[in-house]
Amino acid sequence: MSPPRSTDAPQTESGGGARPGVVYLVGAGPGDPGLMTARSLELIATADAILHDRLIPAGALAGARADAELIYVGKAPGRVAMEQADTEVELVRIAREGRSVVRLKGGDPFVFGRGGEEAETLREAGVEFEVVPGVTAGIAAPAYAGIPVTHRDDASAVAFVTGHEDPDKEESAIDWPALAAFPGTLVLYMGVKNLPRISERLIAAGRAPSDPAAAIERGTHPGQRTVVATTEALPGAVAEAGIGAPAILLFGPVAARREAIGWLERRPLHGRTVVVTRARAQASGLASTLRALGAEVVELPAIRVEPRIDSAEVAAMVEGLHAYALVCLTSPNGVDLLFEAMAERGFDARALANATVAAIGPGTARALRARGVIADIVPPRSIAESLVESLREVDVEGRPVLVARAAEARDVLPEALAERGAQVDVVPLYETVRGDAAEEAVARARDADYVTFTSSSTARYFDETVAGEWPPAARLVSIGPVTSSTLSELGHPADVEASRHDPDGLLEALLSDAASR
Ligand code: SAH
Repeated sequence: MSPPRSTDAPQTESGGGARPGVVYLVGAGPGDPGLMTARSLELIATADAILHDRLIPAGALAGARADAELIYVGKAPGRVAMEQADTEVELVRIAREGRSVVRLKGGDPFVFGRGGEEAETLREAGVEFEVVPGVTAGIAAPAYAGIPVTHRDDASAVAFVTGHEDPDKEESAIDWPALAAFPGTLVLYMGVKNLPRISERLIAAGRAPSDPAAAIERGTHPGQRTVVATTEALPGAVAEAGIGAPAILLFGPVAARREAIGWLERRPLHGRTVVVTRARAQASGLASTLRALGAEVVELPAIRVEPRIDSAEVAAMVEGLHAYALVCLTSPNGVDLLFEAMAERGFDARALANATVAAIGPGTARALRARGVIADIVPPRSIAESLVESLREVDVEGRPVLVARAAEARDVLPEALAERGAQVDVVPLYETVRGDAAEEAVARARDADYVTFTSSSTARYFDETVAGEWPPAARLVSIGPVTSSTLSELGHPADVEASRHDPDGLLEALLSDAASR
């Protein structure tokens, strides 16, 4: 892996954080947090106040300042948190107080987002503003469904239309005959409820009933659903599938391209909910790989790592590090905390120069490599028994050996080494305690298809976190035999066990199970 060229986010043209007294009309994109612009994140991170809609990506406000004022002004169908006029008054008021305001909207602020009206009000009030476009649902939802809104062979134009208006209304703002004759793709927002009449109207005005059409619900969200049918059959197909708002309707031959181009739903874990129980700090790699494979991921950190490197025991170990003949590390956490403990006392990797260094598995070896140390020994299977086996070659008789690890680990390794006459120091660097899973995550985990366990402690603390109420339909995936036996003890035997006992091995086992079901 090559290092990133720069750790800084790309510089935005408009540059810099939110300025006092300025209103930012910002698009948050269609739902996938990855589609938020760099500029939107920069402004969210610096604004004094954020007025936001309902349809913004999950976690969009996670980067907001702890002291920022967050105001929900959304309009759920039938329920309005704040009237449009009041929202505009609020924007002006906050800006005049000399604070910076982000007005955060789903998609693009100027596409059926009333951003234009808000900008006009701000201009009239003499309030400075900036507009930050967002990825609009009308392009993004089709794209995630595998439908290009234009295509050299099929569509040289695309029209964005509101389907909100009742097509039977006497004085329609929409010219249905003109739309029916439009030489390109029609993309309708807010149209699901009116779909039967929209389809009728288009056909009555001359659109071919057999023309391809599509509806995409919750586009770019993990639960995105797509229905493709003819213009005539779409209302029936949508009703049958139970598709509801928010959805994009699309009419035009490009809809048929989904068959060849559809990509999202083809991902191996599309439509599956997977729970990751690792500690928050370790979860992100596994979680993002699972997401890339199409899974909806619930991060439920069942455990938390509590460093214990301030003890006299650790201090003595670090001071005497150069004297060990063998140093055994049994987790990436152990490596990171050992080096932290060393750095605090003025030591670096050279303190390990005299020792044979053993890592329990590839993850631990990677963590060592990141600190400039290539492990001498990495056993073929990432469990203590296998490490014991691999250490056979190392002469430990009468020599000092360090096992630096978690406080509550098994004693297989130190016992085996002591049996061979080694003077073993077992030094705990951290303790594993119950994690701080959010209630919302616990609730979402109930519907999981898979729960992944990367250690015995994740299994034990998961049991506590869900108060014994395990997700009824979930398949339990264990990283290896030790974790599996803990799961059995808890009365929830593993359905799948990895044959390679590291996160990649676990992922492999999960994927092959998912492929077979
Ligand atoms: N400014 C927004 C549109 C707001 S109007 C934008 O540029 O995307 C709200 C309508 O947008 C919804 O009724 C629906 O038609 C559409 N919409 C928003 N998010 C969507 C999504 N994730 N998937 C499908 N349609 C979506």
